[in-house]
Amino acid sequence: MHWSASGMLRPSTVGEAVEMLSAARAAGLEAALLGGGTDLVPALRAGQRQVQTIIGLRRVLELRVRGAGADRLTIGAGVTYTDLVGWSLSPGLARAARVVGSAQIRNTGTVGGALGSARPASDLLTFLTAADAEVLTVSPRGPRRQPLARFLAARPEPDALVTAVRLARPGGPATYLKIGGRQAAYPAEVSCAVVVDRVRHTLACAVGGIGRQPVRMVEAEAYAQAAVDWATGTVSSAAAARFADLVTEATQALTPTLPVGPHGSARYRIHAAGVLAGRAFARCLNPAIARPALAATLLPAAPHSDFLRPDTFGPDTPHADPATPHVDGTGPQGAR
Ligand SMILES: Cc1cc2nc3c(=O)[nH]c(=O)nc-3n(C[C@H](O)[C@H](O)[C@H](O)COP(=O)(O)OP(=O)(O)OC[C@H]3O[C@@H](n4cnc5c(N)ncnc54)[C@H](O)[C@@H]3O)c2cc1C
Repeated sequence: MHWSASGMLRPSTVGEAVEMLSAARAAGLEAALLGGGTDLVPALRAGQRQVQTIIGLRRVLELRVRGAGADRLTIGAGVTYTDLVGWSLSPGLARAARVVGSAQIRNTGTVGGALGSARPASDLLTFLTAADAEVLTVSPRGPRRQPLARFLAARPEPDALVTAVRLARPGGPATYLKIGGRQAAYPAEVSCAVVVDRVRHTLACAVGGIGRQPVRMVEAEAYAQAAVDWATGTVSSAAAARFADLVTEATQALTPTLPVGPHGSARYRIHAAGVLAGRAFARCLNPAIARPALAATLLPAAPHSDFLRPDTFGPDTPHADPATPHVDGTGPQGAR
């Protein structure tokens, strides 16, 4: 083990943490903020990062606050995934938090760490991208608030500390689906969040794992706006299939830049993005759409037929569609 941190600092306020970060940098020391350490510690151990000063944020209680205003939710950077899992004020966010890693990762990993790492398929960031979240930071230049998409697209500010994220209170159903190597152990390969606002008649969809940061599916969103019957908040199964096609097409257009992971060729990602989006869309707006019918519409014939294994879906997906792997509506053990 060769991770060398010559100094561990433990501020108790945001102001102290920012001062320490800036002082370390002024002294020419490589400094890192430490949230839960689920990304930073393995990187230090593997020698991927060399750091002389670590600024532990655990004692900064103001970062661990969740708040609800009349129309907005604010979540401190020190809030863990476990804190979010049971949060009734944002069931969609709770669902995204619930499918992160294992219990240990959820207990220690924080919102600030997710933003600091900015993984392309981060469960939290994909959901927050669909939710049009804002990121609040503090640096020696003062506090700043910016849209999440801009925060992720910009170069990270090395002297800034994320203090919180902010999102609108839910105005309708939302869901989050992911596909990973093994559920509860690995980050997502491809993921999709759908957030519906039945008051403003809008639907947002973000797909993770298909670019440097989660990507909004703007054409599919525009289609959904017109396709949803806003009086009842429902859609037809044909509309769900069309929505899925639009997401597939948008993902296909990104082919030259699609990442290739241990399980995911570009072709896999394109296919998976459409399937997840169609399913998330239907789940939010018309859970009554027959799953076999939707699966048959979305899934091509072999050799893709084993792409979406039942064990790769979220825990509240009732063993994730027994019908999924087959186009004829039967599951791996036959029809149920
Ligand atoms: C086995 C394993 C499984 C995982 N599974 C998943 C998964 O299923 N889904 C998923 O999305 N992620 C997963 N992750 C990734 C990880 O848990 C998340 O990225 C987590 O949110 C990181 O938070 P942390 O508090 O542990 O960050 P840390 O490791 O403490 O920090 C990560 C980075 O963020 C910076 N940072 C920390 N706090 C702040 C702050 N307040 N402001 C600015 N920068 C800050 C650090 O300096 C560092 O660069 C997994 C990781 C592991 C090791």
